[in-house]
Amino acid sequence: MKKYRGIFFDWDGTAVLSRKASPDEAVAAMKALLAKGVKMVIVSGTTYENIAGGKLEAYFEKEDLEHLYLGLGRGAYNYRFEDGRPSIFSDRIPDQEELLRIHDMAYGIHRELLASYGLKTDIVFCRPNYCKIDLMADTDRGEQLFMQEKEVEMLRERLAAHGIRNGLGGLLEIACNVGRRFGIEVKATCDAKYLEVGISDKSDNVDRIMEELERKFGIKSEECCFWGDEFVGLEDGIYGSDSFMLTKKTEEGDFYDVSSVSGKRPEKVVQIGGGVRRFLNFLEEQKTEGL
Ligand SMILES: [Mg+2]
Repeated sequence: MKKYRGIFFDWDGTAVLSRKASPDEAVAAMKALLAKGVKMVIVSGTTYENIAGGKLEAYFEKEDLEHLYLGLGRGAYNYRFEDGRPSIFSDRIPDQEELLRIHDMAYGIHRELLASYGLKTDIVFCRPNYCKIDLMADTDRGEQLFMQEKEVEMLRERLAAHGIRNGLGGLLEIACNVGRRFGIEVKATCDAKYLEVGISDKSDNVDRIMEELERKFGIKSEECCFWGDEFVGLEDGIYGSDSFMLTKKTEEGDFYDVSSVSGKRPEKVVQIGGGVRRFLNFLEEQKTEGL
């Protein structure tokens, strides 16, 4: 495989099996590359506290950390390390007024779904720049983080039963229309349980960090690769959360999906399969091939 100057990757399900799994193996594989100056970028929807127990910096030497970046919170925060400590170098955090507008919009979507379609939802408000609208609030899915094919089908049936046409696409359209009423260009994503509506997504993370890598080190997107385990489409034209790493700015890069789930992926994405093991092997290969 080609040698890359920048490696962007999802954390849960790509570098570690789960949030609770030990990060030791991932860290060891990353260390060798960071020591060679390869830029590594963790792109995850979660927050810093949820990666390696919120102590990621403790696993690395100060010099290694200079090559490590994180794009977190679905576009909300971009981190680099300064003097061995995590530091947010760009963010998409709204002021109070804009945040309240996002909340009003989320309530507006809830209201629209209930008033026009009789669909009951719950809203989680306490997120930095988006709200989570629980579409399965009165069904029992537990706190499972991984999406299952059947669950998407369940949601689709639920939407259809309430008269929402065109499945998840139809739902996203409703959300965007409500957003416009509130003067918000909504960034909306959907899995089998939550509709998330806000002002940024993983595209904002990779775009900002790509700009930073280009500005500081002259790295171009064609010298980078992007790894994840959720590229697969939920339905035509609506792909998984990792597909948001594929943007105008990054499209010259190489995209790899370690998931073995069958389904449609964006054209650029190579389904390589093999899960976390495959990604960690790739890091090992990059190390031995030398720059
Ligand atoms: Mg994942």
